[in-house]
Amino acid sequence: DELSPPGTRARRIVVTGTPGTGKTSATEQVAEVGDLDIDVVHLNDLVKAEGLWTDRDEERDTLVVDLGAVRDRLGDWDGIVESHVAHHLEADRVVVLRCRPDVLEERLLNRGESPGKARENRESEALDVILSEAVERHGRASVYEIDTTDRSSSAVAEEIVAVVLGKRAPGA
Ligand code: ADP
Ligand code: MN
Repeated sequence: DELSPPGTRARRIVVTGTPGTGKTSATEQVAEVGDLDIDVVHLNDLVKAEGLWTDRDEERDTLVVDLGAVRDRLGDWDGIVESHVAHHLEADRVVVLRCRPDVLEERLLNRGESPGKARENRESEALDVILSEAVERHGRASVYEIDTTDRSSSAVAEEIVAVVLGKRAPGA
């Protein structure tokens, strides 16, 4: 990927993280907290609306995203892309939302997910699965971790805006 250096505004920012870390909630607020003219794609919505999936995972009650089809659809589109698979896409900067595992499990149960799915995601978060994948694909210099545990969605959105504008150093 072509990296945009700190201090400059990034063209494409992907926001990823284990389900329940608050990606959708935070990115919905970016327009309100920041004076940014930037579009946000909630990838789940696009995938459903346009059938960009390969399989239905009945056990997990989720769609398996067709990454090839998503890449073709997005082309070199600039903006914020939000999804638990967004780190598999090309990006200038990668935001990884984090949450303390027990808090994450509680959020998922409150959202109405099954106990099995909530536990699986708690374990995945505890093992840093998505962070590792993001660093492996994009390198540490492009990855920005944000802990959402004791923060409101709008506070998280403000941090995302800072990343977009190049006002935050990469890392945790
Ligand atoms: P994701 O899109 O990453 O799966 P959501 O934005 O859907 O996560 O949030 C998951 C659940 O947690 C929702 O019920 C939401 O209301 C709640 N939530 C999201 N962000 C926060 C936060 N910063 N603090 C507390 N609860 C949150
Ligand atoms: Mn979501």
